[in-house]
Amino acid sequence: MQGKEFPAHRGRMEYVCLGCGARRPGDSLLYTCPDCGSVLLLEDLDFSELKKTPGTEWRRIFDERAATPHTALRGIFRFYEMLAPMLEEEDIVCLGEGQTPIVEASPSLRAATGVDFAYKNDGQNPSASFKDRGMACAFSYLKWLCRRNRWDEVLTVCASTGDTSAAAAMYAAYVGAPLKSVVLLPHGKVTPQQLSQPLGSGATVLELPGVFDDCMKVVELLAEKYRVALLNSKNSWRILGQESYAYEVAQWYNWNVTGQCVFVPVGNAGNITAVMSGFLKMLDLGIITDLPRVFGVQSEHADPVWRYYDAPKENRQWKPVTVQPSVAQAAMIGNPVSFPRVKRLAERFIEAGGERAFQVVRVTEQQIMDAMIQANRHGHIACTQGGECLAGLLNARSLGLFGEGEHAVLDATAHSLKFSGFQNMYFTDGFPPEYGVTPDKRLANKPELLLPESARRGVDVATFARLGADAVVKRLDLQAK
Ligand SMILES: *Cc1c(COP(=O)(O)O)cnc(C)c1O
Ligand SMILES: [Zn+2]
Repeated sequence: MQGKEFPAHRGRMEYVCLGCGARRPGDSLLYTCPDCGSVLLLEDLDFSELKKTPGTEWRRIFDERAATPHTALRGIFRFYEMLAPMLEEEDIVCLGEGQTPIVEASPSLRAATGVDFAYKNDGQNPSASFKDRGMACAFSYLKWLCRRNRWDEVLTVCASTGDTSAAAAMYAAYVGAPLKSVVLLPHGKVTPQQLSQPLGSGATVLELPGVFDDCMKVVELLAEKYRVALLNSKNSWRILGQESYAYEVAQWYNWNVTGQCVFVPVGNAGNITAVMSGFLKMLDLGIITDLPRVFGVQSEHADPVWRYYDAPKENRQWKPVTVQPSVAQAAMIGNPVSFPRVKRLAERFIEAGGERAFQVVRVTEQQIMDAMIQANRHGHIACTQGGECLAGLLNARSLGLFGEGEHAVLDATAHSLKFSGFQNMYFTDGFPPEYGVTPDKRLANKPELLLPESARRGVDVATFARLGADAVVKRLDLQAK
């Protein structure tokens, strides 16, 4: 198998219901089981064929493809055989998603926190969040469906905490006809940057009052009764694309993830599902020999998954919560649709990796903000959810869940710029009381205007340069050379 050629393996994809176990062919768009209403996962019936190739060979193939000039294999589809191996080359949409860098904590941040970790900067995806991984797969699948069914118009719809809509609108705009994008947002609950994205991509942007969970219910009703393609994480093709995160973590560390702890913020719980699923597939194929440990992180203001796993095993009960305002707004979800997937995969993860292989930790809003500000002051580009991961790591250490000699990989799920409003609230002590965040005033940073606007008027450039330089010298107390 050469890096320049499109892979030869073809699989048969099937939906598997996590409620009743029913199976259905993957050649139509399903979100939930028509029999029992539970969520689905996708399986390749021919996955066992892949086992005929040894793990070491898979590593070589994936490493070779990491440098391929082949567009369809440049992004997440360099792991083609493990994602949706019934797609043809012409179906694959690649907008440069994936291949995001893992950046070790700066020496000063390591010293300040006393832990050994790295950020995987998934904010360096094209629409600046990890959601592009799932969308690349979901849209490639949609292209495949349109081609097979000769559809002439497909309306793609999603509810979003901001980043799903940004990604969906961008991919829809790129693919063009027959796809059209509609996004449904909770009014006032996405950041201005996130709102600007679907607007810029030309999507129809509809807002409703309430929170994400409310919008999600509306979209579900629409998907049930009308001809629309749902792009929320109920869409299991997105989960497949997001598995690429796990593959990339393993590849970055030369396929050795023993002793690694992977921290993931949990909102609708699609991402953590995908991460566990990805590592399990690699273990199954012998591409890795041990599982890493996976930690979900939730804020006190949106913590249903934490609550579930915090209860003693005998009396765990799934209960959605009502969310409170959270700076980790992209994960501010009280009724995550993928919870049954997490439950299933966590069982398998613990079975294969032991009791400590999957855990959930909880953090305060204060800890999230302090951690994000601290990380970024040391050269990182963490969003609030990335701050949540660092706060989760620090709590895990305090609780004795993360020990000496271990290394953590934290998911910075979006680019810090998308959440700069929260940074601004921190610097100006402007948090509404519901957030419960009191800034550390020593960290506040603001621009200083050195000269009044009027100082530029009526003087030539050379004079202004001297005036300006004098003001800088005075402010910084610079000494002449
Ligand atoms: C969507 C999102 C999350 C939450 O991911 P889930 O898959 O819903 O758990 C976290 N961070 C960012 C930046 C997101 O966009
Ligand atoms: Zn079912």
